[in-house]
Amino acid sequence: MMYQRPKGTNDILPGESEKWQFIEETARLLFRDYQYREVRTPIFEHYEVISRSVGDTTDIVSKEMYDFYDKGDRHVTLRPEGTAPVVRAFVENKLYGPEYPKPFKAFYMGPMFRYERPQKGRLRQFHQIGVEAFGSSNPATDVESMAMALDFFKQLGIQEVRLVINSLGDKETRTAYRQALIDYLEPHFAELSEDSQRRLHENPLRVLDSKDKRDKQFVAEAPSILDYLSEASRTHFEAVKEMLTALAIPFEVDSNMVRGLDYYTHTIFEIMSDAPGMGAQATICAGGRYDHLVEELGGVETPAFGFAMGIERLLLTLESEGITLPALNDLDAYVVGLGEATNVESLKLLQAIRNFGFSADRDFMNRKAKAQFKSADKEGAKLVLTIGENELAEGVVNIKGMASREEKAFPLAEVYSRFDEIYDEMTTVMFDE
Ligand code: ATP
Ligand code: MG
Repeated sequence: MMYQRPKGTNDILPGESEKWQFIEETARLLFRDYQYREVRTPIFEHYEVISRSVGDTTDIVSKEMYDFYDKGDRHVTLRPEGTAPVVRAFVENKLYGPEYPKPFKAFYMGPMFRYERPQKGRLRQFHQIGVEAFGSSNPATDVESMAMALDFFKQLGIQEVRLVINSLGDKETRTAYRQALIDYLEPHFAELSEDSQRRLHENPLRVLDSKDKRDKQFVAEAPSILDYLSEASRTHFEAVKEMLTALAIPFEVDSNMVRGLDYYTHTIFEIMSDAPGMGAQATICAGGRYDHLVEELGGVETPAFGFAMGIERLLLTLESEGITLPALNDLDAYVVGLGEATNVESLKLLQAIRNFGFSADRDFMNRKAKAQFKSADKEGAKLVLTIGENELAEGVVNIKGMASREEKAFPLAEVYSRFDEIYDEMTTVMFDE
């Protein structure tokens, strides 16, 4: 019996995993510059943490949860997103305490799970890199966060991106807009999808986020939430736009954008890839402000802002833009051992080189000399050390710099005592004037 991976999941294999490492490393370095610190939450959470945060009427909670009852009859779920778990951790671990900086800035990366219809850029286990900033209601936090996301894409060499923003306002805004939206949609009730009919009175904003054609035809003409912004919400949104402009960051406003999660307030945004072939999965980063979620999960009122990006979609974008990430698997040295008698010594050499902090490899398959040199070449070794039975008897090893093509015999004892110097000597290419 041969098994296949579960539908909507991927094995990330060598050749591909290096790209993941590069993306994750780039994120870690950049986030450190912005003073975000890593938080790692469990892969599963109490069901209620997610349902209360993301919202019962959202697609995520109503259709896409990997939830189950454990052996202790607890209702748990694999996490479908990262914000609710981080907020739960923020409240539980009192990260608002005096020993923590304000705003408290956290980032996370890891797998998320949603029972969706798998397609290009849409998986059941996918991966997000996300950030959250707690404690600041300053619009500068919104803009710093969006600028950081754009910085990240720039560092990866991604060019064809577009920042789209909107405001969902505060509670006052939502109450006014909710009624306007119901009034607008009610006459079309019969033409809406079943989902939207069900949600119209419970959560009419969800209709705007529907991917169903029957609903989409009404979205374009729907009243704009921006016409219902309260004074405070308008001021906040104006400040965000002003700061984006001050930083020379281009943006578009899309008043129909509402996002698929209920917790957002004020600024929301998406970064879309315009690279060809992204189709309906062109949103590579999404987020916004969520000023009431901390309270909702039992904490004290704390304004917050965050975003998440999908690594799989990021990789599709890189591919589509023809960007190759730098390879991280350089090989410093390859030890060629000729003859059974050198098996021990070449292992010792290999380990000694590694102990000097260099990467090294050798043959383990009893290959012939020619095949070993070919491997060294294929792996891009900068230095090739060759030891045969004669060298072993004389206590020497031949070392060749692959760039300089220079070759020299060194006493084994020297390799063991000062390989770092030998490496520098043999990898430096001298040019004659
Ligand atoms: P969509 O509208 O595409 O379903 P969403 O609104 O559900 O996205 P969020 O929950 O805001 O997305 O997640 C943030 C990002 O995570 C998305 O912009 C996308 O890049 C990525 N993402 C979300 N769901 C998936 C998935 N099933 N597979 C791969 N990536 C995903
Ligand atoms: Mg979705």
